[in-house]
Amino acid sequence: MYTIYQALFVQSTSGQLAEMGGAVSVHKHEVQKFPQYHILGGDEKFHELKGEDERVELHKVQDPYLQYGGRYCDDPKNTSSFHYVEYDELPNFTSQHKSIMSKVLTPDLFRQLQNIKSSKGYTLSNAILTGVVTPHLGVGATAGDEECWELFKDLYYPIIKEWHGYDPTTQIQPIDLEPSKLRFTDEHRKLFNEFVVSTRIRAARNISGYSLPAGTTDEDRAGVEKVLKDAFNGLDGELQGTYYELGSLSAEQTAFLQERGFLFQIPSSRNLLTGAGAARSWPNNRGIFHNDAQTALAWVNEEDHCRIISMELGGDITSVFARFCKLSNALKESAEKNGTKLMWNEKLGFLGTCPSNLGTGLRASVMVRLPAFNKLMESENHEDKQLLEEVCAAYDLQPRGSAGEHSAAVGAKFDVSNKQRLGLSEVQLVQKMIDGVSKVITYEKLLSEGTPPADLRKKLEADMSKRAL
Ligand code: ADP
Ligand code: MG
Repeated sequence: MYTIYQALFVQSTSGQLAEMGGAVSVHKHEVQKFPQYHILGGDEKFHELKGEDERVELHKVQDPYLQYGGRYCDDPKNTSSFHYVEYDELPNFTSQHKSIMSKVLTPDLFRQLQNIKSSKGYTLSNAILTGVVTPHLGVGATAGDEECWELFKDLYYPIIKEWHGYDPTTQIQPIDLEPSKLRFTDEHRKLFNEFVVSTRIRAARNISGYSLPAGTTDEDRAGVEKVLKDAFNGLDGELQGTYYELGSLSAEQTAFLQERGFLFQIPSSRNLLTGAGAARSWPNNRGIFHNDAQTALAWVNEEDHCRIISMELGGDITSVFARFCKLSNALKESAEKNGTKLMWNEKLGFLGTCPSNLGTGLRASVMVRLPAFNKLMESENHEDKQLLEEVCAAYDLQPRGSAGEHSAAVGAKFDVSNKQRLGLSEVQLVQKMIDGVSKVITYEKLLSEGTPPADLRKKLEADMSKRAL
């Protein structure tokens, strides 16, 4: 008898093997290309388990969903291909577990929260599942509905404090979606026009009353899609556009949207979505909306109910932020008109699935050309390689590659964005991005004019101590 995972593994290896049922073994080349192979421990594990015939007998393969403890349970949210795991005691965290959740969850806290269940049926086991079975994640906990943020706060709040440096027990999250308050001077505009290729602002929005993707039912997921479709239908002017159901997109349409960075990625076995149960019934009730100019976009039922995105070519951040605010307000009004509201509270701002995306949930990024910094990345000197990271960190910015997190900077293009999401308002975060990116560009110019990296570092230190005064 196979566990669900092994059955999947066998099926993906070969339909025939699954039908054979009995004792079967696999050769490395038959399984290497499957994502499951990597969750199971990849080459290292394969070598450990293989016999003299270079094959691994499947009964030796442990279900990765159970390898850190727990048992499959009769959860009403289960589907034919995904079963939630219940933990009767603290999971066996290993040195592979990188998440803050795995550090925060002590045996005492586990016992304290173990029997708590939200009215929509989300439990502590549900909340930690993705962090347990996907050990490399940084946060490692999810919420399955709005109520969870209060019920499991003894788990979430320390995670939030560690990740954002924000204390929800004493602080209040400001909200400010007033684009006219941005200070984007002629000097800023000149720098941005010269160096910035494109600008994007995104944030998460969720509809109150419906469970979140990690804990949702088919009914709630469809309900969310309906509320959002109605909201999109109500958009007018430059925001007017079309909603595409993910399941009905052709392969060409999907490729077109993904190449332009418009569409979310299909869930893999190694991301938060799958382990949290948020990829159940994929691709049903998922979709993407965009306006005719493809400058206002919305994702439906991926990690959050909705991710709103405003983007355009060039560096006109005021235009991108104004459109973002319009989209955010239109969604809020439309939800209210339909008798619902967005998930929001004073302590945590906009609520969603992952503790890393609370508050404003806002990431404002520019795709910026930085050839001189990029050249330093090839340097032998470790400090010089790190210079862009260092400059960005000094202004609370985060550099990414040209195709999203952990990608390379193709053509010396970097995605530079605000790092914080909580404790500051939308206007404040976008302003910090404008001011910080202007500094980064100024440093880029100095480097390209021949200033040595060591001198730049001194200048950065001086600038920081000036700010500290
Ligand atoms: P997020 O989690 O904020 O959505 P990711 O790092 O996952 O960001 O990137 C999502 C996609 O958006 C990627 O394809 C990335 O290249 C694209 N992207 C991010 N910032 C910009 C920008 N300023 N201009 C154009 N595309 C961008
Ligand atoms: Mg992302």
